[in-house]
Amino acid sequence: MGSPAARFAVVGNPVAHSRSPQIHALFGAQTGLALTYERLLAPLDAFDATIDTFFAAGGRGLNVTVPFKEQAWARAQAHLSERARAAGAVNTLWLREGVLAGCNTDGVGLLRDLQRLGAPLAQAHVLVVGAGGAARGAVATLRAAGCASVRVANRTLARAQALVADLADGTLDLQACTLADAARAGGWHLVINATASGLQDAAPDLPPALYAPDAWAYDMVYGSRPTPFMVQAGAAGARTADGLGMLVEQAAESFFLWHGVRPQTGPVVAALRASLAAEA
Ligand code: NAP
Repeated sequence: MGSPAARFAVVGNPVAHSRSPQIHALFGAQTGLALTYERLLAPLDAFDATIDTFFAAGGRGLNVTVPFKEQAWARAQAHLSERARAAGAVNTLWLREGVLAGCNTDGVGLLRDLQRLGAPLAQAHVLVVGAGGAARGAVATLRAAGCASVRVANRTLARAQALVADLADGTLDLQACTLADAARAGGWHLVINATASGLQDAAPDLPPALYAPDAWAYDMVYGSRPTPFMVQAGAAGARTADGLGMLVEQAAESFFLWHGVRPQTGPVVAALRASLAAEA
């Protein structure tokens, strides 16, 4: 008998919607690695107990999704990657010599997808809409990508201000504003929707005339159809993309952290796109 397949999972609440099992199964098949990857529903008040039980039973690695990324960050303090430290949130956990280690792969996933698309980054003026964990990861990544300025617009201004206070390090022109104040003279080169509004089938309430000529609009949410934010941005003349590529790229980085092998992402994005279309 061969050794049992290594066990992985995504933990969240809710978690039934997660595409991660499909993505990691495809990565496993592509790379020839024997693994299982399941969904783990943690009670809202029992994240710690759920992950402790998983690792005590021999589990090798966890992805963490809403609403537990900050709790995962708190648990992985002994071995926190630079990316996780910058984002203040963890989406990937594993054991290093018996002690929890954590990283955040959302930001690098976003960056790789933006680079694949050819979206403007170096010297670009970028608007990030939203101020939750995903926005934090995005801003930390954009800071390292050489953008000229980043403004964080959020429905709750205080949350955008807290993000800017936490991530400002003097290397980037970083500001906070309300959604209503999100316009910029000359327009933005790139607007990233990092809000959960798309999950409510709505676009964030942004002012008109947001975009510079040849601008890109990127929605972290994805689906079988263009999201309401993408429809709005497309009507304003921007090129648009949804977050499916980011989802697969962040998963590929987690896979690399766990297995030391980098899977090909293009065929997996294509497979997921086909699954989404078939479900529509
Ligand atoms: P979060 O921490 O809960 O933050 C949610 C953000 O959305 C907050 O800024 C919130 O504003 C804002 N928001 C919610 N509903 C809104 C509405 N109707 N209008 C305007 N703003 C609204 O969530 P998160 O972890 O940052 O995730 C944000 C989104 O990114 C989610 O949809 C998630 O699915 C997506 N995501 C995608 C990927 C990917 O790989 N594609 C990875 C990570 C996250 P307030 O502060 O005012 O409440």
